[in-house]
Amino acid sequence: MENNSESRERILKSSKEDFIDNSNGNNNLESEYKVNDLRPKQFLDYVGQESVVQSIAIAVSAAKERGDPLDHSLFHGPPGLGKTTIAHIISREIGSQLIHTSGPALDRPADVVGLLSNLNKSDILFIDEIHRLSNSVEEYLYSAMEDFRVDFVTGSGAFAKTINLPLLPFTLIGSTTRVGMLSAPLRERFGLSYHLDYYSIEELSKVITRSSGILGLQIDKSSAKEIAKRSRGTPRIANRLLRRVRDYCQVKNYGNLHIDIVTEALDKEGVDSLGLDRLDRVYLNTLFNNYQGGPAGIQALAATVNEDQQTLEDVVEPFLLKIGFLVRTSQGRKITNKGIVHLGYTVDDNIQGKLV
Ligand code: ADP
Repeated sequence: MENNSESRERILKSSKEDFIDNSNGNNNLESEYKVNDLRPKQFLDYVGQESVVQSIAIAVSAAKERGDPLDHSLFHGPPGLGKTTIAHIISREIGSQLIHTSGPALDRPADVVGLLSNLNKSDILFIDEIHRLSNSVEEYLYSAMEDFRVDFVTGSGAFAKTINLPLLPFTLIGSTTRVGMLSAPLRERFGLSYHLDYYSIEELSKVITRSSGILGLQIDKSSAKEIAKRSRGTPRIANRLLRRVRDYCQVKNYGNLHIDIVTEALDKEGVDSLGLDRLDRVYLNTLFNNYQGGPAGIQALAATVNEDQQTLEDVVEPFLLKIGFLVRTSQGRKITNKGIVHLGYTVDDNIQGKLV
């Protein structure tokens, strides 16, 4: 059998290209922060999700005190709620390197072996969309996570040999919008698992006020609240809308942001008073008009709306479910009376077949 340190060296060299490709140039923590100035860099700046932050902060300082890597951690919840941000904060707090990759990017076992063998002690391997890992790649992670080692076979037939590659103790941080799609063996290997929930309007107002400060904008409380109300409980959307309002204000030479400009800019952007955008409205209208309010299957809906099914399931539906405009039954999706009224119809419009 090949000497362990030799094989480690060899894989380190041969996988250098994979390593750079998979991290998509984001393996340097500093460059990540330059690209996105609005990302909070410490727990203190991270708005909301108090119980998650408290618990992870304790786990981080305990691990640091012992000189151990942090337990493998899983963050789940809708997109844009701060899962990646927490991973970056953890790596800063620990003072380790974060390697950023994603489930679909790791399509060959060699990719994951390459990444793992490059990790230093306490480094963080961050896998976004971890539910999209292939089965073969996932199997390599089991022993890597549990015993800090990977076993793989080189050659074939009579020349096949198993190589046991020891790894330095690292932390795997997984992020997913679909925790239910993770296999049980993978899920069970995470010592810490947290669900991130939508943010309140007050929390989003804080995010917007903080981001305005970083972008050098003056914003009053009511304007921040108006953007927050239309941000679907999601900091990423809050920051995006703030940038759109800033552009609008700049092009129209309006000076500081105030409520009238904000309302005008967001209306022009097609974001309504509850934060629903064009796709949300097309989805609800299709359900109401083409499927008599439902129940309708997601595949049929995706085909009619001409949108990717996963986008509907991950981005559109969670918020519509949360605000009670949509219900999911065993027969399919149904629009609620609340949703119908928001579209400007009455329940009778549909029952009497006026709109079908
Ligand atoms: P996810 O990984 O869940 O899709 P991200 O961590 O990429 O979400 O967050 C999207 C953006 O929203 C970040 O760039 C950051 O600017 C902002 N953001 C997320 N969570 C927070 C938070 N708790 N406080 C302030 N800003 C946040």
